Amino acid sequence: MLPRALLLSLLPSLALFAWAQDGSVTGATSSAAAAGYSCDPTKCKLPTCNCASTSPPGGLNGFVVFTADDAVQSYTIDAVNQFLAHRQNPNGCVPRMTYYTSLNYTNYTLVTDWFVAGNEIADHTMTHVGTPPADEINGNLIALNALAGIPLKSIIGFRAPFLEYSVDTLKLLYAAGFTYESSSASAIPVTDPGTDAFWPYTLDNGMANDCLEVNNSCKGQPVLPGFWEFPMYAFFDSAGAAGPHLMDPWLDIAAGNTAINDSATLEYMKNTFTAHYNGNRQPIGLYTHPVHLSTTYPGVNPSNSTINMINEFLDWAQEQQDVWIVSNEQILAWVQNPVPVSQLDTVTALQCSTPQVPATQKICNGIPGNENGLLELCDFPDFPFFTCYGCPQVEPTVDEPNPPQNVPSGGQARFRLPTNCSTPFWDPVAGNCICSSSNCAFTDNARPIGPNGANLTGGGTGGSAAASASTTAAYVPFNGRGFALPPGVWAATGVAAVGAFVGMWGVWGFL
Ligand SMILES: [Zn+2]
Repeated sequence: MLPRALLLSLLPSLALFAWAQDGSVTGATSSAAAAGYSCDPTKCKLPTCNCASTSPPGGLNGFVVFTADDAVQSYTIDAVNQFLAHRQNPNGCVPRMTYYTSLNYTNYTLVTDWFVAGNEIADHTMTHVGTPPADEINGNLIALNALAGIPLKSIIGFRAPFLEYSVDTLKLLYAAGFTYESSSASAIPVTDPGTDAFWPYTLDNGMANDCLEVNNSCKGQPVLPGFWEFPMYAFFDSAGAAGPHLMDPWLDIAAGNTAINDSATLEYMKNTFTAHYNGNRQPIGLYTHPVHLSTTYPGVNPSNSTINMINEFLDWAQEQQDVWIVSNEQILAWVQNPVPVSQLDTVTALQCSTPQVPATQKICNGIPGNENGLLELCDFPDFPFFTCYGCPQVEPTVDEPNPPQNVPSGGQARFRLPTNCSTPFWDPVAGNCICSSSNCAFTDNARPIGPNGANLTGGGTGGSAAASASTTAAYVPFNGRGFALPPGVWAATGVAAVGAFVGMWGVWGFL
């Protein structure tokens, strides 16, 4: 391995390289002619079927989707938290987001924690390969279940690395029981009559996005009944249809500029939001690679101006009436069973709840205060990680995503999550479910939103716009709540991660 100083010195240029190859679209990826799409809404009905349509399925809510891609590490969680942890949705809940997780360099215990905190964990392949084979997709499911304790039934979504997918990818996901896929682009503005900004739709009648990009797609293909496609909605700069920005738009140069200009980015993000909001309210997506915005990863120095700009955008969006920051899973739940604003109280997916586990109980359950001291360190040389569920003898691979457990001599194997217990209540040390009845499970923390959406104002940061909102809790970095690595491990992890970064950049990418 190279000396650490050398590795660190290599990082900035590699980071720039990754930025340069970051995912982007340069124009329309579909057209009405290429789509050749037809769907009979009298036959294709919710909740199991939905035609590709620009019209909202229910009332006019405003949804801002927040997603992150790639490995889960403390510095990526911190990066997400600097945008979401201090916010509230109209029902008083901290916004949830979707993390499309790939497993190389992932610290499994943080996946557990992030899931137990209410976020969606989704599949982004094991080793981050585009147009992935089945082993890459399914191995991710198996490893996330075995080593992060994520119930298989909770992993319902997929995003392809580099957004590279094929019709076969969609068929593999369908066969594996996924509910939705979210790699396709909507890159024609909603103000264009031929827009492809469709609400999530099922593939009963084939794809209607990316028809110019993906072979043998569209014109009725592929037919995958009940399987959902969730397009990624681009922002558009002053060049309009010729200026789409999809992932990490803040890393792009806006039309009319010669360098990254946060003011210009903010302006076009607001303009695109407004076009959606004043129209059919298709979701707006903040599709992030959080490593670029990390202030705690050595060698990455994000612009404070950019971080502030993203928060300013979210502040502004939350000041609009009925705007929610959500995960893909939450929107999909609403699309499948849409209700008007006045009935949003009834949407379980939008509520928040706390597992009833006493703070003093020692249980390795994804809650930092409970699991402190109970994590196992799996000290593999290229990417060490922590887990509650017992270290494997070898690192998980595509060929062996769930290797046999490494049981210390005289020790006891950890028990993996069974299908009949929720993650925060499963004790992997004792092999015991501490809550198996519905009445001891979760406490609902959602604030009543009032009849006819009376409390559905913005001001989600606890500001003056929401007088009835409860006080917003102070921002606490997620891994500051009792999760700590033993002394010396951070440094070792840093070196290992950087080494891996150098070794893997060609295939690692950031999409
Ligand atoms: Zn990726």
